[in-house]
Amino acid sequence: MKNMLSDNTFCEQIDELFDHYDHIIGKQRNDNLTLLEIVKQISNYYEDIIYYLPGHVYWFNQDCIAVGANKNVLDQLQLSSIDEFKGMSYEDIRQRGGWGIEETEFFKKQSLEILRLGQASINIEEPSIPNLYGNPTFFLSSRVPLFDNHKNIIGLVGISIDITKLRHTQDELRIAKEIAEQSSRLKSEFVTNMSHDLKTPLAGIISLSELLTERLQGEEQEIAKTLMLSGKQLLNLLEDCLQIFKLEANNVLLNEEKFNLTVLLEEVKQTFSSIILAKKLKMSILIDENCPALLIGNRTELYRILSNLVSNAVKFTDTGFITIQAKPLANLVHENQNQTIIQFKIIDTGIGIPDEWKHAIFEQFTRITPSYKGIYEGHGIGLYIVNKFVKAMGGTIKIESKESEGSTFIVTLPFKYESHIVTDEKSSAVSTLETPKNLSLRILIVEDNPVAQLMQSKLLSSMGHQITLASSGEEAVDLFSPGIFDLIFMDLGLPGMQGDAVSHIIRQKEASHSTHTPIIALTAHISDEMKRKPADMSVDLICSKPLSREKAKQLIQQALK
Ligand code: ADP
Repeated sequence: MKNMLSDNTFCEQIDELFDHYDHIIGKQRNDNLTLLEIVKQISNYYEDIIYYLPGHVYWFNQDCIAVGANKNVLDQLQLSSIDEFKGMSYEDIRQRGGWGIEETEFFKKQSLEILRLGQASINIEEPSIPNLYGNPTFFLSSRVPLFDNHKNIIGLVGISIDITKLRHTQDELRIAKEIAEQSSRLKSEFVTNMSHDLKTPLAGIISLSELLTERLQGEEQEIAKTLMLSGKQLLNLLEDCLQIFKLEANNVLLNEEKFNLTVLLEEVKQTFSSIILAKKLKMSILIDENCPALLIGNRTELYRILSNLVSNAVKFTDTGFITIQAKPLANLVHENQNQTIIQFKIIDTGIGIPDEWKHAIFEQFTRITPSYKGIYEGHGIGLYIVNKFVKAMGGTIKIESKESEGSTFIVTLPFKYESHIVTDEKSSAVSTLETPKNLSLRILIVEDNPVAQLMQSKLLSSMGHQITLASSGEEAVDLFSPGIFDLIFMDLGLPGMQGDAVSHIIRQKEASHSTHTPIIALTAHISDEMKRKPADMSVDLICSKPLSREKAKQLIQQALK
């Protein structure tokens, strides 16, 4: 009975093997095949698959001795059959393949770890080994342990993929990236230098034509005004182009400072006062009474955001009014630092923006009415810059607009604030812009550029101050004695001794006299120098060039505080 059962079981297993054959080989078996032939054919079938598998396939026993490998491995080691590979140790393989000792140790250590722990190692980028021609070849390898039916480790199987070409491509890409980065750095240096070289004469044109508008009358005054406005337009365009360049290089300047919001909004309004007047528009500023008086944040960027939006509002409005609103959405009072979110609205009664354009206008060079149509001037970069700045400051921007009725740009931005003064801000704002009348300061201007020298000295002397000029750092050091100047305007980028070194010597000269002459540093390289702290440069304030009348008034007021 027992024998019959085992015979039956044996027959069932044979049948199963025959079925298995059909299943694996994928074709009907020849009935004349013996059992041994079937087993051999199945085994050959698998061996062939492994033999021709792409990549390098190999397997070792539990003592880390080679058992088998595919064609690629045999070719690499110049072996003609698997039997020659069988029985090789890592040392034998090293000698056969001309591998380095260190590299071989690495492979062996990896394999021994797998055999010891029974854990796979996947996708390891390995040290290079020489190929048939002695050239270094890099592999990405995975090795897994092999187990018997009782879960004992009986060896390992590995597959290594040749990634040499990929490595070369990666290296080439890395080199290309380095070259591109270097050329972008050079380009950026070139643009910065160019902008510096352009800004100085341009600032001279603006400032001197501004002086002329004050001195001339009638038609000549109009000519001087046009000269000044054209200069300002050029300077703005230059600033915008530079800003785009910086934004593209992810070099967004975010320099925090304390500022009076009302003063800033008045400044924005002031910038557009002549064009508002010319277009017979009305412009008003509405500041909510809960707005903190002094904010701490990115003043320069806020100024650019608001003046860009107001500039558009003025440009695209022919009749009606423009309103700048500011109100806090939330004032959060913390122990050390108060935070607020200010919502700004720039409202106009202009041509409006069609719905389908509301997103697109934030992209570079997008204009609803292109300038070749000649209706409105522009370059389509203002809102792109505004959007980037708003995002960099952690804020939001949106538009509400109806065609032919007007547009409202709503910007929310977070700030810190120190005090919560809700006085009559407007009157205090105006007073901060005024330098006390009859105040004549003894000012030392340290500037090497003749146009900037003329411009600054004319500007400051027209404000009633007494000017002394130094054309170099060395000359400034010679001229300076404690107490003989009330204020110094110091160009940072001087040839020879730089502005910060001059300021340092001035501070040393003052040390024994316990005097302090405020130094206002002027720079054309805003991105680098404005990131530094004034105290590190021995100056009181750092300001970007060019110097305008409003800026000069404000700086003097601030420096003399
Ligand atoms: P620019 O004004 O120099 O063309 P901007 O990026 O500032 O560039 O604006 C892009 C476009 O968005 C403008 O050309 C204009 O078509 C539209 N736009 C912006 N602001 C307004 C506005 N207040 N009213 C109507 N259209 C506007």
